[in-house]
Amino acid sequence: MNLVERDLQVIWHPYTQMQTAQPPIPIVRGEGTCLFDENGKKYIDAISSWWVNIHGHAHPYIAQKVAEQLKKLEHAIFAGFTHEGAVELAERLLNILPVNQKKAFYSDNGSTAIEVAIKMCLQYWHNKGEGRSKIIAFKDAYHGDTFGAMAVSGRSAFTAPFDSLLFAVEFIDLPNESNIEALKSQITSLKNEAACFIFEPLVQGTAGMVMYEAAYLDQLMQHCRKEDVLMIADEVFTGFGRTGKPFACNYVTELPDIMCFSKGLTGGTMALGLTTCTMAIYEAFLSTDKLKTLFHGHSFTANPVACSSALASLDLFLDEKTTISIKRIERAHREFAAKIKDHPKIKTIRQTGTIVAMEWETGNNTSYFSSLRDTLYNYFIDAGIILRPLGNIIYILPPYCITDTELAYIYSKIEQALDEI
Ligand SMILES: *Cc1c(COP(=O)(O)O)cnc(C)c1O
Repeated sequence: MNLVERDLQVIWHPYTQMQTAQPPIPIVRGEGTCLFDENGKKYIDAISSWWVNIHGHAHPYIAQKVAEQLKKLEHAIFAGFTHEGAVELAERLLNILPVNQKKAFYSDNGSTAIEVAIKMCLQYWHNKGEGRSKIIAFKDAYHGDTFGAMAVSGRSAFTAPFDSLLFAVEFIDLPNESNIEALKSQITSLKNEAACFIFEPLVQGTAGMVMYEAAYLDQLMQHCRKEDVLMIADEVFTGFGRTGKPFACNYVTELPDIMCFSKGLTGGTMALGLTTCTMAIYEAFLSTDKLKTLFHGHSFTANPVACSSALASLDLFLDEKTTISIKRIERAHREFAAKIKDHPKIKTIRQTGTIVAMEWETGNNTSYFSSLRDTLYNYFIDAGIILRPLGNIIYILPPYCITDTELAYIYSKIEQALDEI
């Protein structure tokens, strides 16, 4: 049996209807922006392998740091013990995050980083003896697939089988010029029940690369501050340069109380989640009363190998070359968007930083289940480009090492598709 046949015998893939999905493509190696299959066919990874890879595949520097770490210490229990990598990573990250972020709590992935953030907020109020337990979130939010993360995400086809078991959340619209005052009133009307407001700053990835203005988010955040509502910035997707600045929260003046990271954190090398918080939140858990402890942890919390890949990724991220590349990608996307925006098949095209997203005109409403999705997906796979449309929305968010030639090739194939499909 070849690998695909063996796969189909034993594997259940994520987000995949196994009855109708095409067989998976066996990938044997990666280099820079590209993945290579067993026949040597090259694919440009235009979506950074589900938005995680920021410096390219099998990066030699990250590989070297991880290999060194593996020979020194692969894992150690993180309750009662500590290690250099976890401490150094927390020190260096807190140093570049908004100034109020003072403590780092590790977990395993984006969803767990969110679970930790929600628990921190709810128990913060519990420990203070205040009964605030309502969570405010955006209607089309996506914060992950575990139950708490699903509960604070918009109700959708993804959550439908579980909706009756998800805790109630106060959903609000994305802020804009015309609704901002109404949204503030909605938050105020929750009186002293609102525990926290969780949001994806500037770009809602899974919703379809939906973008909204920093100025209105800032106003909403300032209002939350006034009303004593804690703020959780979910930067699992937007963190580490995606939006053009190191973090999407760098576009607003108000500071979030809690921030969540994963995806780009290790450069896409290892699974790692991180939740950071303010001193005020941390201190609400300090007590001689053991019941005020944050009783949360995972077997692999702060895994040293994951921390070493995050440290290596951070070295690369802070290199001036990466900043220049991010600017270069932003500029290229902007020129491309300007060039194709009037094409009759482009319903809308939008950009934030290194993310450009275009809505394909289908005659129907935009939908995750658009039949155009498979046609587009296959068209680009044939052309050696990994684009994974969200329904009829195509987006490009490449590793920052992508070359101008590779970008030009992706753009030209999209233009060709616009004319041919
Ligand atoms: C992907 C994502 C998550 C969940 O992260 P996982 O590592 O897939 O569990 C949470 N929030 C946002 C904004 C995401 O894009």
